Amino acid sequence: MTASIIDGKAFAEGLRARVAREVAALKAEKGLTPGLAVVLVGDDPASQVYVRSKTRQTHDAGMAGFDHRLPANAAEADVLAVVERLNRDAAVHGILVQLPLPAHIASSRIIAAIDPAKDVDGLSAVNAGRLVQAPAGPLDFPVACTPLGCLMLLKDSLGSLSGADAVVVGRSVLVGKPMAQLLVREDCTVTMAHSRTRDLPGLCRRADILVAATGRAEMVKGDWVKPGATVIDVGITRIAGADGKQRLVGDVAFAAAREVARAITPVPGGVGPMTVACLLHNTLQAARRSIGLGPAVL
Ligand code: NDP
Repeated sequence: MTASIIDGKAFAEGLRARVAREVAALKAEKGLTPGLAVVLVGDDPASQVYVRSKTRQTHDAGMAGFDHRLPANAAEADVLAVVERLNRDAAVHGILVQLPLPAHIASSRIIAAIDPAKDVDGLSAVNAGRLVQAPAGPLDFPVACTPLGCLMLLKDSLGSLSGADAVVVGRSVLVGKPMAQLLVREDCTVTMAHSRTRDLPGLCRRADILVAATGRAEMVKGDWVKPGATVIDVGITRIAGADGKQRLVGDVAFAAAREVARAITPVPGGVGPMTVACLLHNTLQAARRSIGLGPAVL
């Protein structure tokens, strides 16, 4: 079997277009422009690239974008002051603090300071807790963007996920844990694996849905994949190719896994583009909630 490719780039483009339509309707009907503030501390080149891309896509969707840049030596109190100002700013519906922060700043304290209603990254303890406790049905609070994007791709590819055996490799607060919670809500039977898991290949081979989020280049081999499984590869690692040029690879050995799986996300062009699209989705929904509207169905 050669797997079909789950085209996250195309899906993300469609999602961004649907968000832009809803933004236009919100402006026309309610006079409200969703606003996203991005806070960048320091000059990490990768973070600068991400922030530029987020800002461009925010404007393309018709939203207001607010960039706040602080120097690498900014004090934690300075970052907290910016967050608190944004919490009070009625034009701002979503606040994203670009991670990682410089080592002298406790990201947990910064994230905890963001108003949960504006926490469009879904990383605060309040929103992570809501994800655990919320009943089945539409999510009426922000959920971490990358796992939300993975879930959208899975539902688009498979329809119902009910009853599927799912294995999530990775247990980070950013990806693995919220991913597992989202899959439980979809009635999957979920196993979360990590660096201490025994017989990871054998565990993965039982998965109808395999999500890899470790950052270990091509760790998941083709014979770890159950025939007919759906594989979501979150990992992004830059490695030197045979020609000496740098290239991006995921956590899954793509060519071998593709011969076994039913459907698989490529790297790049799979999960990556979904993250910013879901950030815009979360900002739109936060703006709607701020005036008492329910979630737009996108
Ligand atoms: P973290 O480093 O926070 O977490 C990695 C997880 O993988 C940990 O739970 C770790 O286990 C587990 N792990 C590491 N090595 C192994 C191993 N050999 N076997 C099994 N499990 C292992 O990473 P993130 O969750 O933040 O990110 C994961 C990957 O996803 C990275 O490549 C990152 O770049 C990418 N990413 C992509 C995004 C996108 O937009 N596409 C967005 C966010 C992340 P333990 O807990 O035991 O240490």
